[in-house]
Amino acid sequence: MNRQDLIDELVESIRSLGVDFRAVEHLDAIAVINPTKNVGAYDTYRATPKVIAHEYFHKLDGHKRRRFENDVRCSQERDCNEQATEFLWEIFIREGGSIEYSQLFLEISGCDDYWLQRILPINPYSSLAMG
Ligand SMILES: [Zn+2]
Repeated sequence: MNRQDLIDELVESIRSLGVDFRAVEHLDAIAVINPTKNVGAYDTYRATPKVIAHEYFHKLDGHKRRRFENDVRCSQERDCNEQATEFLWEIFIREGGSIEYSQLFLEISGCDDYWLQRILPINPYSSLAMG
């Protein structure tokens, strides 16, 4: 799983939902989407697969209001982070990844360790404790 290939695939998925999702060279928010107006953009230098997948789920879930990206108290933001992590983890597994390579997954996807641990059926660090 290559980061740029993954970004390209995610961007195509967003565009296939009818969103005019553009690559720009600098964007303060890194990535934004307006699911109602079907427009969005991402920073080509800084956007990670996780950030783009997060916006993808705002569109899929039909979220109407733009909220602060890092507001952990907002359930929409939490849901999009969790869905993005699950979605990317499924792609990683499909492409031959495994739990032993979860660190590689985090590096490629830009996902947070915290969210990965929440979605994994087995805590990746539990084997270390047992060993
Ligand atoms: Zn968001």
